Amino acid sequence: MGKLISKPTPGVEIWDEDDGTKLVLLVKCPKCGKENWAPNVARGICSWCGYDANELLTSKTREQ
Ligand SMILES: [Zn+2]
Repeated sequence: MGKLISKPTPGVEIWDEDDGTKLVLLVKCPKCGKENWAPNVARGICSWCGYDANELLTSKTREQ
């Protein structure tokens, strides 16, 4: 299942998966403040305003 490595902002979690990839979970959108629609949580994209939380991945945490 991997482990939680970062919470760059409330509502957004970055997980380190077992295979080394980084997964961005957008639980609650920091931009529009709405709770994200479940299927889009693991995509890191807000269902409501289209905000992409993947941009919060720094070059340090982003997969090569
Ligand atoms: Zn939003």
